[in-house]
Amino acid sequence: MEKICVAVRLRPSVSQESFNGNFWKIEENRISLHKTQGTPISGCSYAFDHIFDESSTNASVYKLLTKDIIQGAMEGFNGTAFAYGQTSSGKTFTMNGSETDPGVIPRAVQEIFEKTQMMSDREFLIRVSYMEIYNEEINDLLVVENQKLQIHESLERGIFVAGLREEIVNNAEQVLNLLEAGEVNRHFGETNMNVRSSRSHTIFRMVIESKRKDSNPAGDYSTSDAVRVSVLNLVDLAGSERIAKTGAGGVRLKEGKYINKSLMVLGNVINKLSDGSKQRGHIPYRDSKLTRILQPALGGNAKTSIVCTVAPEEVHIEETKGTLYFASRAK
Ligand code: ADP
Ligand code: MG
Repeated sequence: MEKICVAVRLRPSVSQESFNGNFWKIEENRISLHKTQGTPISGCSYAFDHIFDESSTNASVYKLLTKDIIQGAMEGFNGTAFAYGQTSSGKTFTMNGSETDPGVIPRAVQEIFEKTQMMSDREFLIRVSYMEIYNEEINDLLVVENQKLQIHESLERGIFVAGLREEIVNNAEQVLNLLEAGEVNRHFGETNMNVRSSRSHTIFRMVIESKRKDSNPAGDYSTSDAVRVSVLNLVDLAGSERIAKTGAGGVRLKEGKYINKSLMVLGNVINKLSDGSKQRGHIPYRDSKLTRILQPALGGNAKTSIVCTVAPEEVHIEETKGTLYFASRAK
């Protein structure tokens, strides 16, 4: 079992609010809540594999949390990288990035195609899919008509989403165009873009298949690395904020219930996986669509990383504590 790499990223403050009360302080790989005078508040200090402060770049997050997963994916290992955190804490900024500092997804795509060039002894077939889980319904972001897709399992294919479009891609630009189209589809017919996007999980997936060029056409696949297939998932999770705060009823409440449930299941799955002892027992992958879809790329030989994004503002202290608690259970 590969160790799950867990990091926290504090985004820069976006409000003009000065810090009159408590604030988060980062020292190496530890983040702690302090009083204005500088005294630490007990019980609010956590250590992780990495902590990225306000001045960190997507380049550094990519390097420390994703590069290794990409390398693994090229060698045939499945991998998953998550961004977890409350709405507006920087998940999408981390995954998609900005014009000047591309995020984890474009960097991963770029590097994968660079590596295919370098690994000239292999022939690659790369496929991309992009989906959203909203209210426990799976929607294809590459084909608007593909809504409410079902998860199936077969001996041949393992666990898969039936009917999900898989686009064969040959270069990074093509993938980035698909991503952009997916973003447009995601907001198709939406009156309030932010509401939906903060309440759905998106899974960007690349299936990387490669074959040794010199492998015998008659089918001499006796050497273990003659054919490799790996699945890479880059996941922008729904906002982790508690529903009570939004104070909404009806549809909104239902959405909140589903999100909280699938994030809770994800927390439980990851907590079990990261439990080093052999007696971790049953892992509840089947308890949510998210964990079921990701199952083949979570645990076992798969490489996993989580960046938990947090907001520095005082109004967000309770949510930040919640995120750090989630992160601490993943270690
Ligand atoms: P989320 O996806 O978690 O809801 P966003 O990624 O959309 O949050 O971030 C909210 C806002 O904060 C955006 O305007 C984004 O550009 C900005 N932001 C987030 N993280 C950073 C960062 N590390 N550096 C600069 N701006 C950031
Ligand atoms: Mg977002």
